[in-house]
Parts: sequence; structure tokens; C-alpha cells
Amino acid sequence: MFITGDLPIVAEKQLKKAGFTVKINRNQKQLTKAELISGAKNADAVISLLSNKIDMEVIDCLSKCRVIANYAVGYNNIDLEYARKKNIIVTNTPDVLTDATADIAMGLILAVTRRFYESEKLVRDKKFVGWQPKLLLGSSLQNKTLGIIGAGRIGYATALRAKAFGMKIIYFSRSRNEDFDEKLNAKKVSLPKLMNAADVISLHLPLNERTKNIVNSKMLDLMKSSSVLINTARGEVLNEIHLIKLLKKKKIFGAGFDVYQNEPEINHELLKLENVYLLPHIGSATIEARNQMAEIAAQNVINVLNGKKPITPV
Ligand code: NAP
Repeated sequence: MFITGDLPIVAEKQLKKAGFTVKINRNQKQLTKAELISGAKNADAVISLLSNKIDMEVIDCLSKCRVIANYAVGYNNIDLEYARKKNIIVTNTPDVLTDATADIAMGLILAVTRRFYESEKLVRDKKFVGWQPKLLLGSSLQNKTLGIIGAGRIGYATALRAKAFGMKIIYFSRSRNEDFDEKLNAKKVSLPKLMNAADVISLHLPLNERTKNIVNSKMLDLMKSSSVLINTARGEVLNEIHLIKLLKKKKIFGAGFDVYQNEPEINHELLKLENVYLLPHIGSATIEARNQMAEIAAQNVINVLNGKKPITPV
């Protein structure tokens, strides 16, 4: 079996205990396609990272593979249909990273609205000369509206946190979500309505052909000048270039990113902007979540290779 990245040790232990031989890429650098193919071509199973693009070309080289266990809840890096055609089962790691990712979304909301970066920088630059009535005023969350785009597990967990901060919730998804409706007293609205009404917009959609660029320039133009956009989903669900234009012209208050359109490359314009928060895709990066993700990925592999159903197929 081939593990494409340096996962928590628990995965390796679990797999070895189950009697499998494990080959691990311990290099911190991302694998090239050739390296990925070379490592995976004779493996019965692959545990992949979201940065491994597993397309038709790669899948065609997997002569023995029966399961690709993605170490993430999102699986937009894998050509799912082609894997199915080749009888390869694909699995992911849902639920165990929901709270960790929602914490990052909520953290970004607070950081942007209360201007953490500018405030921190002022202190480190030794420019703090004492309390002042108008120093770095942000905007409060109480009674403001949070718009959740993609009302699933992480969207709900983020909304729950925001509710505790006194926010009202609206959401956009294809189907109604009873937890949103009943537990959060939230209203389902159209995407344009959400873009226009929300004070804070938080993206929690999976990336696929239907959601790619769903938050396009037309949608972004509907945002209020006081509003904030947070993206912890995937970079390609929004038009990043247009969002940068709005931020530069101060047409919106700020933004927080954990994911980017051309990850790991960051648009250099973003780096220059203040009141924009840039995190290195750390949504699920807690010790607890990553350990549980490793356990699930390993268990999925063990189940499939032993002829059982995987615990979290996609
Ligand atoms: P989830 O429970 O499946 O939620 C996704 C929601 O999006 C669903 O409720 C779905 O509702 C909605 N949706 C899907 N297609 C849609 C469409 N075309 N239009 C409108 N809504 C749509 O997934 P999750 O566990 O919350 O994860 C969401 C995403 O977060 C993942 O796919 C991943 O890309 C991202 N993520 C990022 C990090 C990070 O490190 N930053 C960590 C974990 C996850 P309907 O089917 O009713 O529309």
C-alpha cells in the first residue's frame, strides 16, 4: 500500500497490525505526477492527500489498486467517475474534521471583523501609544446576518458557533436543512438574496462541476460594502480575481481565506491587502482531527482489502 504523505503514525500502525506492507512518502514536498504514479502503480491501495491530482492518467497506471482513501472530506482531486469505471472504491474522512474547520471559519470571521492583523501589527511595530476612542474600530457580530453557502456539516457547525455570538443565520443549499430551520431558526434563501443580505458570508460547498465559480463576479457584486467573505471550502468555488478587485477598491470590508484558486500559489495581490487573512489550508489541522482522519483512512483500506464495505465511501 502507498501513503502519499507523512500521516499521523496511527495509520501506519493500524495497517501494519492488519498485516499490510506500507510504503510512505515522508518527503514534505508535494509529489509530482511521475512520483505519484511510481509510488502507487503496484499498490493494492492508496491513501492520498487532497494535493494529489488523481486523474485518468494516474488511475490508468494503478494496475492493482482497489481503494483510494482520500485523507480529506473533499475529493475534488480525484476523477471519481473514472475510478468507479475502473472498479476502484474511493473513500473520504467526513465528520471528524467538521468542528476543527468550523473553528477556523469562526476564527477568520472574528479576525476580519475585529481587525486582528492590523491590531497585532500595530503593537509589534511599537505604535501602540495607549487606549484611544477610535483605535482600530471593527464591526460587531451581534444581530448581524451570517449567510452560509453550502448548508452541510461544516456549514452547520459554523452557523452554530455564529449563533452563539448573536448572529442571525440565512443559508443557501439545494435542499432544505432541518437543523438549520429548526435549531438555528435559519431561513433558506436564493444565492443572490444571500449575497445581498448577509453581513458575513461563509462558503462551505464541495467543489465539483456544479459549484465551480458559483460565487461569480455577478454574485460578488451584490455584497454590501460593510460585508465580509470567508472561504474555507475550495478556492475554485469563487471568482478570486474579482473578489480581489472588490477588496482593492474597498467595496467590501474584508475577507478571510484558508483555500485558494491556484493552491499552493497565492495571488500576489492578496498578499498586499490589509484586512485580508490568509491561512495555509489548515481547516482540519488539529492533532485530534488529523489522528481521526488517519484512523478512518486506514480502516477504509483495511475493510476494502479484506472484502468488507468501507466505513466512509463517497
Ligand atoms: P457536506 O456536509 O457534504 O456539505 C456540503 C453542502 O453543500 C451540502 O449540504 C450540500 O447541500 C451543499 N451543496 C452541494 N452542492 C451544492 C450546489 N450545487 N449548490 C448549493 N449547495 C450545494 O460537506 P462538509 O463536510 O460540510 O464539507 C464541505 C466542504 O468543505 C468539503 O467538500 C471541502 O471541500 C471543504 N473543507 C475544507 C477544509 C479546509 O481545510 N479548509 C476542511 C474540510 C472540508 P445540498 O446537497 O442540499 O445542496
